[in-house]
Amino acid sequence: MAQQEVVIIGGGISGLSMAFYCSQAGMKTTLIEKESVVGGSFASSQYASNSDKFWFEMGAHTCYSSYQNLLGIVESCGIADTIIPREKVPFTLLKDGKVQSIMSGMNLFELLLSVPNIFFLKKDNQTVRSYYSKIVGEKNYRNTVSHFFNAVPSQATDDFPADMMFKSRPKRKDVLKNYTFKGGLQSVARTIAARKEIKVITGSPARTISNNGGKYVVTTVDGKEYAADALVMALPSAPASTLLQGVNPGLAAQMAKLRYADVESVGVVVRKNNISLKPVAAIISPNDTFFSMVSRDTVPDEHFRGFAFHFKPGLDDNAKFRRITDILGINLSKIEHTVTKKNVVPSLRLGHKEWAASTDQLLGSVRNLYMTGNYFGGMAIEDCVSRSREEFERMKAVR
Ligand SMILES: Cc1cc2nc3c(=O)[nH]c(=O)nc-3n(C[C@H](O)[C@H](O)[C@H](O)COP(=O)(O)OP(=O)(O)OC[C@H]3O[C@@H](n4cnc5c(N)ncnc54)[C@H](O)[C@@H]3O)c2cc1C
Repeated sequence: MAQQEVVIIGGGISGLSMAFYCSQAGMKTTLIEKESVVGGSFASSQYASNSDKFWFEMGAHTCYSSYQNLLGIVESCGIADTIIPREKVPFTLLKDGKVQSIMSGMNLFELLLSVPNIFFLKKDNQTVRSYYSKIVGEKNYRNTVSHFFNAVPSQATDDFPADMMFKSRPKRKDVLKNYTFKGGLQSVARTIAARKEIKVITGSPARTISNNGGKYVVTTVDGKEYAADALVMALPSAPASTLLQGVNPGLAAQMAKLRYADVESVGVVVRKNNISLKPVAAIISPNDTFFSMVSRDTVPDEHFRGFAFHFKPGLDDNAKFRRITDILGINLSKIEHTVTKKNVVPSLRLGHKEWAASTDQLLGSVRNLYMTGNYFGGMAIEDCVSRSREEFERMKAVR
């Protein structure tokens, strides 16, 4: 049998994990990524000054012992020894100009009255708001917990399905509860992309897809063509919908039904001796211009500190940097390095599982077309890898 060829569009963790599985099975794998580096929301930013090298996360930042499929890939790639713990610095709330712990923002009486509901209430068909306001109390939810939840996908989560927000999965006991990697998450992305069996094309987005005599042909903006027996879509729903119009208008329309949010992220690097803010994992500031500020203080560095601010859309640069310098308590001249990034996150609503089931039904009737991403089983890194694994198994079954 001829070696199967696969083209994957999108080089975030969904596309990378799919590329890993396909290449491991001996398939000729090409991965096309729009940006100049792979990783998507799983990409760290790198900063080098003289001989000092520093990374900080511009999207995802934490992995857990329950990320079993991710761990499987990490182990197969031989980089399990680069897993490192995250320092226990607090996730904090900024209220009335003061940084405080999440717990100090809670009314303990209301919490104690409500929390036993966790044993009776089911998450099915509940929104985040309807479920969690019963678990922590209406006021605690409104004043504190909802802001913490909004920070997770950088958007209002009141209407998210409660069962897709925090999922419990079996954990591995031999792995740290939460961790990152010596070189940041990007080091995992880079390791997968460096596999010699995967051909990685970066910096040239896919522009069209066609089907020519049973083969998919992906054309990138620089006019190059990549043909393959099987095609994997691993990109956000909006560009996936646009690209699919050429080969499957039904699926394109299905993808267009999904809502999503753009997150405008700004990362800054400051020399350690130029900032007095106490170490924090993150700052969440209710009703502010940003959803969260995530810091690199969880992996302290000798020289630098790094902070990623995930802003609500529509702010100009002046307003962003005013807020950044206010929060960090420094003036602009102390910022040594800046990076900007746009992350795209799905906006899930009740009924999402039905949407995913009907998408799978549509996919089942199309030959050699597969889809992965953070809008199938959930948004966490492990949800993306699990979806890729399921799609890979489906691909293997029809080979
Ligand atoms: C701020 C933030 C913090 C998060 N924190 C965590 C966390 O701590 N832990 C956790 O488990 N999860 C976290 N998540 C969620 C998780 O990071 C994402 O859901 C996951 O990384 C998404 O991966 P993906 O590959 O599905 O999508 P993406 O990462 O969005 O990748 C899609 C890729 O497709 C590319 N692309 C788009 N159009 C084209 C085109 N035409 N041609 C080629 N390529 C194209 C994009 O450039 C992108 O690289 C976080 C997300 C964000 C945004």
